[in-house]
Amino acid sequence: MYTDHRTGPTLDKIRSTAGSAPPNSSTLRCPWCGHVGVLVSRGTDLTNGEMQSEHMRFAGVRHCPNPQCHGLIFVVVDHHGTVLDSFPPERIDIDRSNIPAEVLDRLEEAIACHAVGAHRAAGALLRSTVEAMCDDREAEGPDLRARVERLAGTTALRDEYVGALAALHLLGPDSVHGITKELDGADDATIRDAIDVVKTVLNVVYQHEEVIRILARHQR
Ligand SMILES: [Zn+2]
Repeated sequence: MYTDHRTGPTLDKIRSTAGSAPPNSSTLRCPWCGHVGVLVSRGTDLTNGEMQSEHMRFAGVRHCPNPQCHGLIFVVVDHHGTVLDSFPPERIDIDRSNIPAEVLDRLEEAIACHAVGAHRAAGALLRSTVEAMCDDREAEGPDLRARVERLAGTTALRDEYVGALAALHLLGPDSVHGITKELDGADDATIRDAIDVVKTVLNVVYQHEEVIRILARHQR
């Protein structure tokens, strides 16, 4: 059964309604704009009523320091101000340059799923990201592994990357049922690894290849 294991237990600890001045220096990658900065407090925080500092938790509203954003974020922090949880949740950052919209759209949705602990959904969307990349680069083959291997033959994509995609079940069955079954039990660290591998593959196919094209232009 799916449970939001990241948010539930942490928020559950804030039972007191006592107001408190919020701890300073809470740093977070803004879920709205991706800017990393020290969050700005809005009003007083709720606390969990614990008197020992290492057990104290504060919950309250902050806003993003980026003047172009100022997005509102609800956070749970410890007495140092370290963010333990947030809503919206923090997301893994990505380099979007030169990645086609139909590929990027799937990767961003996968990262959004990972941020809320929906690991199998994230895995299915990462597979879909790889498939969209093969569609975009017109890499054909009888199955997804063959298509990625075809792409590896025409780009700087190394065999190890294809192996890593396969080991993380991202080249598996061509159905949501099949891929989610293979990803039963996948945890946060596994999906984090899978996102890292897909980001690296996209970096080679779209960003590294762009550098090679620029080099060719300037060597004429
Ligand atoms: Zn922001």
